[in-house]
Amino acid sequence: MAYDWLKGIEDHYDIVVIGSGLGGLTGANVLAKCGHKVLLLEHHYQLGGLATWFTRKGGHIFDISLHGFPIGMIKSIRKYWSQDIANSIVQLKGVRFINPQFSIDTTFDREDFTRQLVEKFQVPAETVERFFTDLRAMNFYDNSQETTGQMFARYFPGRDDVQRLLMEPIAYANGSTLDDPAITFGIVFSNFMSKGVYTFQGGSDVLIKKMGVELKTNGVEVRKHVVVEKVLTEERDGRKQVTGVVANGRTIRCDVVLSNANIKNTVLRLAGEESFTPEFVAQAKAIRVNTSSCQVYLGIRKGETLPHIGDLVFTSEEPVFSSEKLVDLHTTSRTFSMYYPDTRPGTDRYTVVVSINAKYDDWNNLNEEQYATEKQRLIDESIAALEKYIPDVRGKIEWQEAATPRTIERYTRHWAGTSFGTKFEGLKVSMDLPAQLPGLYHAGSVGIIMSGWLGTINYGVIVANQIDKALAAKKRAAPAQPANA
Ligand SMILES: Cc1cc2nc3c(=O)[nH]c(=O)nc-3n(C[C@H](O)[C@H](O)[C@H](O)COP(=O)(O)OP(=O)(O)OC[C@H]3O[C@@H](n4cnc5c(N)ncnc54)[C@H](O)[C@@H]3O)c2cc1C
Repeated sequence: MAYDWLKGIEDHYDIVVIGSGLGGLTGANVLAKCGHKVLLLEHHYQLGGLATWFTRKGGHIFDISLHGFPIGMIKSIRKYWSQDIANSIVQLKGVRFINPQFSIDTTFDREDFTRQLVEKFQVPAETVERFFTDLRAMNFYDNSQETTGQMFARYFPGRDDVQRLLMEPIAYANGSTLDDPAITFGIVFSNFMSKGVYTFQGGSDVLIKKMGVELKTNGVEVRKHVVVEKVLTEERDGRKQVTGVVANGRTIRCDVVLSNANIKNTVLRLAGEESFTPEFVAQAKAIRVNTSSCQVYLGIRKGETLPHIGDLVFTSEEPVFSSEKLVDLHTTSRTFSMYYPDTRPGTDRYTVVVSINAKYDDWNNLNEEQYATEKQRLIDESIAALEKYIPDVRGKIEWQEAATPRTIERYTRHWAGTSFGTKFEGLKVSMDLPAQLPGLYHAGSVGIIMSGWLGTINYGVIVANQIDKALAAKKRAAPAQPANA
C-alpha cells in the first residue's frame, strides 16, 4: 500500500498553505508566529519551490535559483525568519558582462554603475544621477503607463549599449521585457543598485533546511509529497467561501487557504471557474505568464579546481540586446553562476549552473526524440561557451545535465512552466482574490515586482498579515461562547 504522506494530520487547521516556495514558507512562518494553526502542503519531495537544490552521484549539489538577490533580503530574513539565517547572507562582488558591445566587471551597485556609465560609456554624470534618483522615487501607485523601453529612450536615446547593461541582468532575473511597465524595472533594479548582489553562503540546501527547522519550532505542520487537488468552497450567508482543500484524495478543513501555486493555477484549476464571477475568471484568464528557463548543471570532479572568472557572468553573442532573442530556442545569451568552494564553506567543490531564458511552447512542442537532442545541444553549447573563459574546463566536468521549461512545470506545477510568475496584471488578480472568494489568498511570484527571492518573501509577509487581521476580525465577530462551554 502507498505511504500515507498525510498520516496523523488533524481534521481542521486555521490555514492551509499550498506550496513551499519562499512566499509559501514565509507566509506559513509569519502566520504560525501569530499563533495560528498552520498546515503547509508541498507536492515535491523537497521544500523551497524554485529556491531548491538537487544532488547527484559524485558529491555534486546544484542550486536552481540561488544566483543573486538584493541586500533587502538581510532585513526580511532577520525579521521574518531568524538572525542566524540572516548571518549567512554575503555579497557577491564579481559580476561580469561579456558581449559584443562591452566587457565589464562590476560590483553591481549604484556607485560602481555610475562610474562605469560615466567613464566607460561616456554618459553625462548628471543624466546618470537623474536616472538613479528618478528610479528610486518610482512608486507602485503612480500608475504610469510608460514602458521600460520608453523610459530608456528618454534617458539614453540611441544608446543600445547602455540599455543592454541596464536591462540584460534584470531580464535574466525576472523575465521582464522592454515592453513591461517601467515601474517593474525601476523597483527591481533600484533594489539591486542599493548595495549590490547578495547570496546565501551554505547553499539553498542549508537555507531551506534551516527554514524547515524554524517552521517546526513555530508549530507549522509541514508535509511533502502532497498535491492539493482542489480548494473546497461552501455557500454561507448567500456567499461562497473557502472551507478546506482536497489533498492526496483527502479532505482537510480550514478557515483560510494561502496558495503559493501560480495565480492562474490557483484561480482556474484549484478553486475553479465556478467559484468566481465571469468577470474575475476573464481577468484571470487574461493574465500573461512570464517566460521560463533552461539550465545546464555542470559538476566538477572532486580534486579539480576552476579559476575565479567572476561569480555571475552574463554572456551573449547577440550584437544588441533583444527581449525576443533572449528567450529564443537558439539564444546565445547565457548566465554562468559559478559556485566556488566558499559557496559551501568546508567543502572543496566547484559547480557551474548555466541559466538560459526560454519559452515554454518551444520545448513543449518537441517530441521525445527532439527533446533529448535539444537538451544535449544545450549542454554542448554551454560547455563550448564556458571553454572561452576556462579553456580546460571540459576535462574537469564529471556531471552534466539539462533542465527545461518542462522540468520546471513538472517540479512546480506552474502554468506553462513559468519561472518568474506573471506580468503586471497578475498582481491585481492576486490581491483581489480574498474579496472575490472569502478565505482564499495568494502569495507568490506575480507582477514582476512580487517575484524573485526578495519579492516573494515580502509578498508572503504582506499576505500573512492580511490573513492574520481577517482571522482576528472573524473571531471578534463570532458570538461569544459561554465560559463553561
Ligand atoms: C532558473 C531560475 C533562476 C532564478 N534566479 C533568481 C535569482 O538569481 N534571484 C532571485 O531573486 N530570483 C531568482 N529566480 C526566481 C525565484 O527563484 C522565484 O521568484 C521564487 O523562488 C519564487 O517563489 P514563489 O514563492 O513564487 O514560489 P515557487 O518557488 O514558484 O514555489 C511554488 C511551490 O508551490 C508548489 N505547488 C504548486 N502547486 C501545488 C499544489 N497543487 N499542491 C502542492 N504544492 C504545490 C510547488 O511545488 C512549489 O514548491 C530564479 C528562478 C529560476 C527558475
